[in-house]
Amino acid sequence: MPQTARPAGMTPSIATVCLSGTLREKLAHIAAAGFRHVEIFDNDLLTFDGSLDDLAATLRRHELEVVTLQPFRDFEGLSGRDRELAFARAEAKFDQMAVLDTDLLMLCSSCHPAAQPGIKRIVADLRELGERAAARGLRIAYEALAWAPWVHDYRDAWEIVRRVDHPAVGLVLDTFHLFSRGSPLEPIAQIPGDRIFLVQTADAPRLSMDHLSWSRHYRCFPGQGELDIHRFMSQLSETGYSGPLSHEVFNDVFRMSDPAQTARDGYRSSQYLASMVPDPTNGVAQAQPLLGCEFIEISCEPEHLPTLQNTLTALGLARVGVHRQLDAEGWHGGGVRVVLNTDRAFAEHFLDKHGTSVVAIGLRTHNAYQMIRRAQALGLELVEPDSVDASHRMVALRNVDGTIWYLLDASAADESWASAFDTLDEPLEHGELNGVDHIQLSQSYADSLSTAFAFRSLFDLRPRPTFDVFDPRGLVQSQVLDAAESAFRIALNTSQSRDTLSGSFRQQTGGSGVHHVAFGCTDVLAVARSLAQSGVDTLSIPPNYYLDIQPRFGLSDAFVESLQEFNVLYDEDAHGRFLQLYTVPVAGSFCFEIVQRDGYQGMGEANAHIRTAAALRSASGR
Ligand code: MG
Ligand code: MG
Repeated sequence: MPQTARPAGMTPSIATVCLSGTLREKLAHIAAAGFRHVEIFDNDLLTFDGSLDDLAATLRRHELEVVTLQPFRDFEGLSGRDRELAFARAEAKFDQMAVLDTDLLMLCSSCHPAAQPGIKRIVADLRELGERAAARGLRIAYEALAWAPWVHDYRDAWEIVRRVDHPAVGLVLDTFHLFSRGSPLEPIAQIPGDRIFLVQTADAPRLSMDHLSWSRHYRCFPGQGELDIHRFMSQLSETGYSGPLSHEVFNDVFRMSDPAQTARDGYRSSQYLASMVPDPTNGVAQAQPLLGCEFIEISCEPEHLPTLQNTLTALGLARVGVHRQLDAEGWHGGGVRVVLNTDRAFAEHFLDKHGTSVVAIGLRTHNAYQMIRRAQALGLELVEPDSVDASHRMVALRNVDGTIWYLLDASAADESWASAFDTLDEPLEHGELNGVDHIQLSQSYADSLSTAFAFRSLFDLRPRPTFDVFDPRGLVQSQVLDAAESAFRIALNTSQSRDTLSGSFRQQTGGSGVHHVAFGCTDVLAVARSLAQSGVDTLSIPPNYYLDIQPRFGLSDAFVESLQEFNVLYDEDAHGRFLQLYTVPVAGSFCFEIVQRDGYQGMGEANAHIRTAAALRSASGR
């Protein structure tokens, strides 16, 4: 087994099936994103509006090389006339490949109704195909489709390729098929790298459904789903493989999304894959743990300023500074910092587009410099301070939704704050809060995939299994990304319905963005009392909810009465109990959540539908 991994030799590539649009549009976006290699999907070839020569010229103009024509289906295991036709189809594809200047035809295992099982028959068919391909200087790559009746495990496909024993016949490894069959990954390391002709990469959320539907509708780019692509890449690097590493994603939302964004995400994902393989020459700095949230910046219409000031005061924050350059004030207390920014010129007029909402978030890491290098290598969009005398030196990630995520050294956070604000007052030492527990974003599905990728690839956040929230107006899908070393989390909510809480947030606030910021505390009832005394409204929770939780958790009458009085939701897991409340949204958009987490590790999933219903009721004024 070769010990020297050559990941630098793996060529980033993408299949045209990943993108929406016509083949001409797809190729333009793929090239613009930075790819130089592409898989041509057969459907795209058949629907192309010109000749093969036109297509070849288009590819040359975009400086794109075709790594394979795919898929060639239903070939092996046939007899008689069916077998003759299968070889004739292959010869026709060989002719087309010559014009497109590619030497590789990708064959996926047969689902032909007349195909017969039997490894000898399949080996003989592939050997003959290999002979014919070799005679024309071409090669065949064989893939086990997860749903094929006879060959659906990569280990069987490898056994066939091994027995064919022909230099023109090699193996395809497709991460989706491997993971969806639950095949062990360890045997991959035993396959010689030069017998693997193509590696196709896709991620996916973990869903329990049939392989075909899961594959056709829910694949996504590595770093956007929940499969253990890291483990696959480490096995692959053991083989010494140095061919194309090509995304092959079938996704309903990709098919209707902006192909430029999809192609960019695909390219970033390729860089991310390269960073998974230990190789000092790939230039991608290692991911760093996300240590927590340093500050929240709210872009604020002047008429909402008094409400926000009142809420922050009730939460135990004090106005401690005014910004040196912007119309903005700094609030601090109990380990939480908030900036209220009424400057219309800030962040490319974010306020005009989104109204009062969270515009920026400061994230703490051990080494911001390494994070910035990694973000650059992954092709993420960075915002640099405008000038050297800017009030701060913080570099930020601009997320796809327009929000700005500053990357801060934990050691330099105080200094950054002090350099931006003239001090008015000292922070309150004994605030009601003790930090930011999580931030929840409401996004379109396409944006949530881009966002999940950006944060996961930058900080190595762990995706928790997605869960469905039954909003009264439709389904909301929620995915939590967990920071390993801290108690900080990012939750991504997405909904196809315009009328769910998540969907209507996007209608009201100019698109995807931060739906709520959750502050942690040690006594949520004390915070609730303080909010009530200051006249801050909280989301009203229906009485039937409390009838249900009392016997469920064996709570005392007095405790349940105080939960109900202050609209506090309750849950428990094996680690402890969880109390949470929500403020009524400011200006019909974002809100604050206050949580008390006594060891509890979840997100209050059991209460999600209760609070969504409550928020919709509140928004409709009932
Ligand atoms: Mg495939
Ligand atoms: Mg929350």
